[in-house]
Amino acid sequence: MKFKDYPYKRPDMDAFKSEFNQHLEAFKSADSAEAQIAEIKAMDALKTNVATMFQLAGIRYSINTNDAFYDAENAFADENGPILEGVQSNYYRALLDTKFKAELLEVYGEHIFNLAEVSLKTFSDEVLPLMQRENKLSSEYRKLRASAKINYDGKVLNLPQMESYMQSKDRAVRQSSAEAFWQFFADNLDEFDRIYDELVKVRHEIAQKLGFKNFVELGYAKLNRTDYTAKEVAGYREQVRRDLVPYVRALGERKQKRLGLDKLYYYDGSISFNSGNATPKGDAEFMVERAKAMYHDMSPETGEFIDFMLERDLLDLLAKEGKAGGGFCEFLGSFASPFIFANFNGTSGDVDVLTHEAGHAFQVYQSRNVKLSEYVWPTFEAAEIHSMSMEFFAWPYMADFFKEDVEKYKFMHLADAVEFLPYGVTVDEFQHFVYEHPEATPAERHAKWREIEKKYSPEKDYDGNEILEKGAFWVKQGHIFEVPFYYIDYTLAQICALQFWHKSRVDKQTAWADYLRLCKRGGEVPFTSLVDVANLNNPFIDGTIKATLEPVKAYLDSVDDMNL
Ligand code: ZN
Repeated sequence: MKFKDYPYKRPDMDAFKSEFNQHLEAFKSADSAEAQIAEIKAMDALKTNVATMFQLAGIRYSINTNDAFYDAENAFADENGPILEGVQSNYYRALLDTKFKAELLEVYGEHIFNLAEVSLKTFSDEVLPLMQRENKLSSEYRKLRASAKINYDGKVLNLPQMESYMQSKDRAVRQSSAEAFWQFFADNLDEFDRIYDELVKVRHEIAQKLGFKNFVELGYAKLNRTDYTAKEVAGYREQVRRDLVPYVRALGERKQKRLGLDKLYYYDGSISFNSGNATPKGDAEFMVERAKAMYHDMSPETGEFIDFMLERDLLDLLAKEGKAGGGFCEFLGSFASPFIFANFNGTSGDVDVLTHEAGHAFQVYQSRNVKLSEYVWPTFEAAEIHSMSMEFFAWPYMADFFKEDVEKYKFMHLADAVEFLPYGVTVDEFQHFVYEHPEATPAERHAKWREIEKKYSPEKDYDGNEILEKGAFWVKQGHIFEVPFYYIDYTLAQICALQFWHKSRVDKQTAWADYLRLCKRGGEVPFTSLVDVANLNNPFIDGTIKATLEPVKAYLDSVDDMNL
């Protein structure tokens, strides 16, 4: 069956609820662990079916936003998502009350109990109106960003369109486009500040109503973090500051020399070489052919996976009229199928889709038979290990995609991975300040951002740009508005992926075995346990960043980048 033939049927939510509740009552009154397990299976299948239909509607709508049928179905899914969460909460309450905990632990492990507990802490009927207000504010942020109409280069452009000018080889273009980009945020700063201020206050109120001191612990719980707290994260950020920031500074100096510039300004950030960044040497069809050959060569498991994806048309890669922007990977539980969505644009980002998003897809394909739908995906910081590491497992094949640009690509890929980390922890430290001080004014938040930025990126020079000097760079970072405390995840995963990069170069077989074992476990255990499963060093343990960085430095320092 191909993706286009996957049958969609709008779920009958009343029928779903009543059927689910029958199983839930049977679960509660069951007189054996076996009977409870049978009910868990039945409830899981019902939930998975509804979730799959919601996702299918969402994907088909994203592929063609002009399709009136899936537009309506997607709206139906948005509206009815909370019903799914509601029945889930009732099930979690019953699960935590089970008389057969010992037997269920034996089958499912401890993690589902921890997930149930943490999930119940994040919700009560009392906060529902506040959560709806929070969602509304998040949409206001998205709308405000999407409203950008910037007059530039004789055209009217939106923010993503501006970003391609900001990567120009011509410095004057980089500078003027960056100034125009930031002028949009300067013109709308009061509105961005209002939205964020209201978001912070409503989140604080939700946290207090749920019995938390402030939003920090609730934010962690909402991300299903069951195995570490703000304390471990603070220690991790300190490792970045102490052991990584100086090297990133050195990389910046190298880049300035390589680009032959008097100084590196904020608008020079996205260009790595005067001759231009590495680009793939062929069209989409060429890249898909190369990806197919690559995954067949990499391992039997990846070979089977890519055939499954291609035979069923589970990749929608080309940008086209009416298609939504961005890229993502989803898992359609009822069809045991991953799905990859992207908008190819001819840059090295296209290859990243075939490695990064395919890493996510490969993981869910490997974990598709876990015992609970909660266990298919792990938490975000673990999920990004699979995707970011796959980018590195793909290195031996990158010459097939980039030809003469391959060394450029590798240097840039590895340097970018390291250079991203200080920014990632800046975003995180800022959010801890914000939610620990919900009474702070927008001006105090801006000042704090600039202070933290100077700590982690002392080399950043805003060339007198007013809004950036003032400390408002963060307003462009959607995660800060929409998913609080989700961002450090990318950095934690990157530290793990860099370890896989090194291992795959010294002992490919062991590295691959570790990676495959990790993928198969899905989300059966939390992040730090998955790190153990994969034989990786835990990023929270002091010294991990320093040790991870050693081989990366050795590689980057060995490259004659002046001649790339
Ligand atoms: Zn990802």
